[in-house]
Amino acid sequence: GVRHEPTNKIVLDLERLYDEVSDELAYVARYARAIQQQRGDYNGRVLSIRADDLRALAIVYDISPSGLIERLTEAGVLVADPRAFFAS
Ligand code: C2E
Ligand code: C2E
Ligand code: C2E
Repeated sequence: GVRHEPTNKIVLDLERLYDEVSDELAYVARYARAIQQQRGDYNGRVLSIRADDLRALAIVYDISPSGLIERLTEAGVLVADPRAFFAS
């Protein structure tokens, strides 16, 4: 059958990301807006992003991809489980 384990997908909470007042995540926010534009995905509260794109962003921040994940987690802009996110 179909397995439904929590994904390791990188899912951004767009409301939180775009509300983030500090400049720290400005590049992530800009990147997310560009991806929304490319996909025509404007109505979502969350956005799943490519692992490749996370790697590229990590280079911009001069940290490791896992380091960037940590930073996003600390800023509270990552959604651990999008299905739980919508259930709450
Ligand atoms: P593309 O890379 O040639 O992908 C064409 C279509 O294949 C996408 O249309 C999407 O429907 C599907 N697709 C490709 N990769 C994935 C994937 O990992 N997961 C899923 N669910 N679908 C996938 P879409 O979404 O309209 O995107 C159009 C074009 O916009 C893409 O063409 C790509 O050039 C760019 N794009 C969209 N999202 C991203 C992104 O997150 N990162 C990057 N680097 N480019 C993106
Ligand atoms: P999931 O990946 O756990 O996503 C749960 C819900 O989060 C999605 O419900 C959608 O409302 C939201 N979500 C996640 N990523 C994005 C995003 O990049 N943009 C937007 N606008 N919303 C997002 P939804 O659409 O009913 O999908 C339910 C489940 O169906 C998803 O769970 C996933 O397992 C599967 N699914 C939906 N679309 C795709 C897809 O393009 N590719 C793959 N592989 N699975 C998909
Ligand atoms: P997903 O749709 O569940 O896809 C999971 C992984 O399957 C992707 O991880 C990628 O490695 C592979 N994959 C799925 N569809 C394609 C495809 O058309 N072409 C290629 N080359 N690989 C594919 P990845 O790249 O880390 O993406 C993570 C999630 O980001 C995707 O989960 C999807 O929710 C979203 N995403 C990525 N690229 C696109 C895109 O172009 N359009 C849309 N709408 N969503 C995308």
